[in-house]
Amino acid sequence: MASKEQLKLVGLTCNHYSSSGMTASIINYGRSCENCEKWDGKKCTINVFDKTLAGLDQG
Ligand code: SF4
Repeated sequence: MASKEQLKLVGLTCNHYSSSGMTASIINYGRSCENCEKWDGKKCTINVFDKTLAGLDQG
C-alpha cells in the first residue's frame, strides 16, 4: 500500500489525474490520488500509479 506522501506526489504530477468533484477538499488539501476519480480506495483503476511513481524516482 502506498503512503499518503506517495499518493500526494503522484496526484500532483499524474497526467491522468481527474478530480472526482470534491473541489473543496482539493483546494484545502491539494491534489492526491485519494481525490482522483480513478482511485478506487486502494489502487489506481487505470494502473498508472506505479509508472508515475517510478518516473518521480528518477527526478
Ligand atoms: S489514481 Fe491513478 S490516474 Fe488518478 S492521480 Fe493517481 S495514478 Fe493518476
